[in-house]
Amino acid sequence: MKTTEKFNDLLDKHHLKKTGPRLSVLSILNSREVATSQPDLEQMLGEEVDRVTLYRILNTFEKSGIIHKILDLNGTSNYALCSPLCTSEKHKDEHVHFNCTICLNIYCMDEVQIPAVSIPKGFKATNKNLIIYGSCDSCNKKGKE
Ligand SMILES: [Zn+2]
Ligand SMILES: [Zn+2]
Ligand SMILES: [Zn+2]
Repeated sequence: MKTTEKFNDLLDKHHLKKTGPRLSVLSILNSREVATSQPDLEQMLGEEVDRVTLYRILNTFEKSGIIHKILDLNGTSNYALCSPLCTSEKHKDEHVHFNCTICLNIYCMDEVQIPAVSIPKGFKATNKNLIIYGSCDSCNKKGKE
């Protein structure tokens, strides 16, 4: 399936109108192997989408279970596409994120699940977040050259 069709389907599935800016945001996030920060998104979209529109799109996508947000070392929001299992009721992508302190990239480690953590009686967890900081594979390889 062509990626444009895939995104059209995705928006249909979530009952969202297919707009140019929405499709552009999806295609940028899809084209990158790492999460994309909000300022980077703004820059990549250029004139096409203003800041308020982008903010609304990201909000809607996050609520719909299309993307998830990861805060980086500086507290900046980064976004990555969700797995198809996420819904508007619940995000199911409880994978570990890795924030490289050298290149600052954030990786979704889809295959690494957040381990179970037992919390005190009376508390109810709705979400889990785990960010590991360190140096990523490509930075480590560069360091050895
Ligand atoms: Zn999700
Ligand atoms: Zn790195
Ligand atoms: Zn992720």
